[in-house]
Amino acid sequence: MQLIYSLLFIMKKHSKEYLQNISPYETYELLVEGNKRFINNLKTDHDHLALVNQTSADQYPVAVILSCMDSRTSVELIFDQGIGDLFSIRVAGNIVNNDILGSIEYAVKYVGSKVVMVLGHTECGAIKSAKQDVTDGNITDLLKRIKPSISKAMLNDETKYLFSDSVAYANVENSLEEILTGSDIIKEMFEKGDIGIIGAVYDVKTGAVDFFKNLTQNKESEQKQLANL
Ligand SMILES: [Zn+2]
Repeated sequence: MQLIYSLLFIMKKHSKEYLQNISPYETYELLVEGNKRFINNLKTDHDHLALVNQTSADQYPVAVILSCMDSRTSVELIFDQGIGDLFSIRVAGNIVNNDILGSIEYAVKYVGSKVVMVLGHTECGAIKSAKQDVTDGNITDLLKRIKPSISKAMLNDETKYLFSDSVAYANVENSLEEILTGSDIIKEMFEKGDIGIIGAVYDVKTGAVDFFKNLTQNKESEQKQLANL
């Protein structure tokens, strides 16, 4: 593992070679370490203009992250990443539809990103609105996609389902399931071990990301633990 890290260190970031050699688990660890730097205020001093030049010819982002549009959950900031590091798909309630599946498929199959992450967050307005049965314009259909997670959270823990944050966790699980059932491309790449799939929830009060621990603690079976299902 140490040797691999040394090789990655030598390889130029934002290069095809770097992306081809980093594993899904190493990518996950990059994100874990990035969030640790973020919450400890040890952020990397990104030279954004230099990164613009480095990435002008092509892009090799290591992960594709589906997260909420919430203004407090910008993935580059909370994972201490820079220009060219991440594909970021953002939509209220981090829900999945066919356009989002197509975007993820492009990221993993045609660019080579190694991790698919669904990132929910606490105090999510979309989830609160879904729980309140808000109906208005196109918001109605969007919130319908969150409703199954309310039922799921209720089934998982009847005492907690009233709290929106438990629905946020169920909603991430639901989106992960929809990604794997809705895309043969992603499912096949995951089953072959080419990519990892993980869920996480961001705490707007602390800045910390809660990665789904039961699936990420055991380094022995690196692919399976990232399944999250
Ligand atoms: Zn939200």
